[in-house]
Amino acid sequence: MKNIILFGAPGAGKGTQAGLLAEKFDLIHLSTGEMLRREVSQGTPLGMRVKGIMERGDLVGDDIVVNLIAKALDNGRNELLDEWDELRLRRACGIGPDDPLPEKPQPSIIYDGFPRTVQQCQMLEFLFQKKQRKLDCVISIDVPQEELVRRIHERALISNRSDDTEDVIRHRLEEYEDKTRPVLDYYKVSGRLVMVDGSGEISETNTRLCQVLQYVLAQ
Ligand code: AMP
Repeated sequence: MKNIILFGAPGAGKGTQAGLLAEKFDLIHLSTGEMLRREVSQGTPLGMRVKGIMERGDLVGDDIVVNLIAKALDNGRNELLDEWDELRLRRACGIGPDDPLPEKPQPSIIYDGFPRTVQQCQMLEFLFQKKQRKLDCVISIDVPQEELVRRIHERALISNRSDDTEDVIRHRLEEYEDKTRPVLDYYKVSGRLVMVDGSGEISETNTRLCQVLQYVLAQ
């Protein structure tokens, strides 16, 4: 039951890589961006509250995203079983085929797009204390600024996300520099930060990430 944060700027490939890693290592993939988009598309009160913020490329409030993560960590057995077949759940939790499944199975989690502010880091620490979890590793996908800008141009041409227009992505990058980059310094001090070169092809970055994951999950 490891907790791994996948960190990176917009365009670094966090979502793609987190999905691949979750599939390969049977991890739960928690993406705050995806959770928020789901709220927006379902037209929930929360979705209506954050729609404009996301469309502008601003960060939504810390309390909102931390609440979403807290709720996801509270997921009971039934919710997990809805998404996962029982075999995968047993494998992910190291539970034998004949052993009973606990009420709340605790597989390892990869966090994508969270935390994005130092305040969120502190709130996550508090949450982990309450839920008897601990942070095992922060992996930062490192991509040079000029490559991020190149990818962003490319993405703006093909994406159907309303916050993937060029102006908005540029603003998301500013938000990243201003509010999210300090998260790196926060975790550097703790010694749990690993930097991975993400400048190349998806498969190259994935190979590097898999090596780190294999090591972390074996601890
Ligand atoms: P993403 O899919 O991770 O790029 O997130 C899309 C948008 O959702 C961001 O531009 C923010 O508006 C919002 N968002 C996602 N995660 C967070 C977070 N941890 N803190 C604040 N806003 C977030």
